[in-house]
Amino acid sequence: MWNGPSAPDCLNLFGRWVEDGPLSRHLGAEMSGKRDYYEVLGLDRDADEKALKNAFRRLARKYHPDRSEEADAEDRFKEIQEAYAVLSDASKRSQYDRFGHDGPSGGFGGGFGGGFNVDLSDLFGGSDIFSAFFGGGGGGGQRNSRGSDILYRHTVSSEDVMNGADEEVELDLPAPCSSCSGTGAEGGALDVCSACSGRGVLSRMVQMGPFQTRQDRTCSECNGRGKIPKSVCKDCRGRGRVEQTTTLRFSVPAGAEDGTRLRLRGKGEPGRDGQPAGDLLVELEVSPHPYFERSRSDLIMSLPLGYADLALGTTITLEHLDGKTLEIRVPKGSTAGDTIDIPRRGFPRLRGGGRGDVVVLLKLHMPKKFSRSVRSSLEELREDMAPSDLEERIREEADVRRRGG
Ligand SMILES: [Zn+2]
Ligand SMILES: [Zn+2]
Repeated sequence: MWNGPSAPDCLNLFGRWVEDGPLSRHLGAEMSGKRDYYEVLGLDRDADEKALKNAFRRLARKYHPDRSEEADAEDRFKEIQEAYAVLSDASKRSQYDRFGHDGPSGGFGGGFGGGFNVDLSDLFGGSDIFSAFFGGGGGGGQRNSRGSDILYRHTVSSEDVMNGADEEVELDLPAPCSSCSGTGAEGGALDVCSACSGRGVLSRMVQMGPFQTRQDRTCSECNGRGKIPKSVCKDCRGRGRVEQTTTLRFSVPAGAEDGTRLRLRGKGEPGRDGQPAGDLLVELEVSPHPYFERSRSDLIMSLPLGYADLALGTTITLEHLDGKTLEIRVPKGSTAGDTIDIPRRGFPRLRGGGRGDVVVLLKLHMPKKFSRSVRSSLEELREDMAPSDLEERIREEADVRRRGG
């Protein structure tokens, strides 16, 4: 019988390590990612406008915080709103299809009513609680909001994270249309919106129990702008902006994490009517390394070694991300499941300075087949390598497990 650590033993050790050790922090960190908008609405990527509206109506009713019994209703509701706001806008949808989570995300100026430009009263009519919910508060619509933020995902290598990097990318980004100076109107000629008399909102008085309250909703004629082009600019079809190839330069900070966002002020969608442009958020995606898993600034790798290397000790050298050689000294008498800590050879810490560690998890490599000569050598070793008192060893192992070690 072979007396090296058996497969279940390794799994146990590894399992425990995952629970308590640096890997668990790593796994936890990965769970904060944003859900895919199509997934949020339960739609295929080619879903048409009708399917989109239906899915949104159904989910918005289900998760409306005033009505839903679900514990996470409010968060789900926000998620649904955001997904719909983006996918129902053709240009935002195509940006999202290309870049991923493009547009809405944390820190948006106008909130839902303003920033996303969705007229919910159209979807739900004026008759149920949704009009009350969406009608209030929003007030000025998008009239006074700056341009939307744009999210761009940028993939960097582990080497970039180790050393920091200066990036230069070419992107098609919205810029003010030069023919109409961003107004969307030919020659910049705008009329006051007749539907809302230029206020950007439509108001009505609503009886709520004993009270009369005024409800405002964004004017759908002018989208809350209060103005309407005399005739629509042909170059931008009234959008006031056009796609323009732009060179962006930004620095990837050493130690950047997956999901780290860099904010490039004023590089987002241009604002309308003199309002400031939104920001461009560069979200970094760190591509996985072939050897290492990451746990904050620590780098974790598995090293499968033969039994003789574990038993007698060995030194393994690898080319490391920092450009220097990484020397892994495996002491004699090592066991599968042991870890070797190599301090200060991990990623730079994003905050606080210094570097994390490289953590090497030793594994036992077991060949699938043995040659005849190896087999006979092993037969000779079998006796010597086995524990002298198997029962006693089994009892010791049980004790170790009971103590949780
Ligand atoms: Zn134009
Ligand atoms: Zn209007």
